Amino acid sequence: MSEYSHHHRRSARAFERARGVLVGGVNSPVRAFGAVGGEPIFIERGEGPYLFDADGNRYIDLVCSWGAVLLGHAHPAVVSAVTKAAASGLSFGACCTAEAELAEQIVGAIPSIERVRLVNSGTEATMSAIRLARAATRRTKIIKFAGCYHGHVDSLLVAAGSGAATFGVPDSAGVPPEFAKTTLLAPYNDLSAAEARFQEHGKDIAGIIVEPIAGNMGFVEPGDGFLSGLRALCDTHGAMLIFDEVMTGFRVAWGGCQTMWNIRPDITCLGKVIGGGMPLAAYGARRELMELVSPLGKMYQAGTLSGNPVAVAAGIATLKQCRIDDPAYGLYSVLGRQTKTIAEGIRKAGAVHGIAVQAGSCGGLWGFAFSDRLVRNFVDAKACDHGLYAKFFHAMLERGVFLPPSGYEAMFLSAAHNDEVIAEVLCAAEESIESVKP
Ligand code: PMP
Repeated sequence: MSEYSHHHRRSARAFERARGVLVGGVNSPVRAFGAVGGEPIFIERGEGPYLFDADGNRYIDLVCSWGAVLLGHAHPAVVSAVTKAAASGLSFGACCTAEAELAEQIVGAIPSIERVRLVNSGTEATMSAIRLARAATRRTKIIKFAGCYHGHVDSLLVAAGSGAATFGVPDSAGVPPEFAKTTLLAPYNDLSAAEARFQEHGKDIAGIIVEPIAGNMGFVEPGDGFLSGLRALCDTHGAMLIFDEVMTGFRVAWGGCQTMWNIRPDITCLGKVIGGGMPLAAYGARRELMELVSPLGKMYQAGTLSGNPVAVAAGIATLKQCRIDDPAYGLYSVLGRQTKTIAEGIRKAGAVHGIAVQAGSCGGLWGFAFSDRLVRNFVDAKACDHGLYAKFFHAMLERGVFLPPSGYEAMFLSAAHNDEVIAEVLCAAEESIESVKP
């Protein structure tokens, strides 16, 4: 058992207070622990691979702010950059030179991006990306894959993964049927279904939006030829291919999935890592496409806090650290080795106790699911043993490891999670598997 005492009195009090004024006590649904039961822990501070809650319990963090924190919590270089920027003013609503510095990093890393627009959240990035696809093609419909999550954009909350799946509302209330109808669905990893949508609606399809690795129904990798097949379909039908790399960008590799696999989407959405834990996201594309966006073009998109100097400073400092081992970007190969060790370790721990575990990893992104077959799409993801996951989640929490509080999420690691930390996670995982086995 853990050497830490895991009582949660202060978290319980904080939750009670929060429930009096915040919807369900939270500002983002999955934080409420609805899928795993129990009450949320309230975090007081983070340091490297650890979180500390209001009761002083320490956890190894495998959520890492849902992927945003690539370098570990309170990384000195990021904190110092943010502190310095903050001292010079928090927001100007006017241009600052740091915006171009971050944009140069992004453009330099991702060949499909020649111009970029900074925004404040992944949701804004995907909302703007589909608007751009529509502006460019003068068409309306968007193909989306079931179980992918692209933020809470109205028309993308159709068969949505992540919290929408966790809370059983993959199709949200409040989305007008007219909006939902603009979204055409296909199962993830099913190229022929996407092709069929083009057969039916080809002239109306503005684009396809896809997570190049799906991280919102667990961790689901694209099968051979899936993404290149989508590229070819878009080329054939004059539609835009949108890679939502909000989660994968600068997490699976420098530049993201598209750089690693050399597939060029038309439009890319970024978020999480590029803000280093601050609210920052982006969308980008080749020059002539982005020149459709205001002030150069007729597609309107704006933001009071966009390109905020403090957020931009965090992003620049984070990306600088990712390249610190240039030219091989050593950080990613180390992360890749660590996530593989941890995913494999959990799979093996399951096998020892006769519990089938599917596990996978790529760079700093990984996941596992209690299932006896490979998870390739949303139907497979729903068929996993989510009840067992809930028990495992709590067994791990008791042992000082914080996993995503839902089986419909990917898992994360930071550069601060060293061998010792990984060994501790695996030790907790072995005990936890044993304690929850049916
Ligand atoms: N796209 C993907 C792939 C995501 O994983 C997320 C958030 N988890 C979003 C978009 C939305 O980003 P945000 O929560 O910053 O709006």
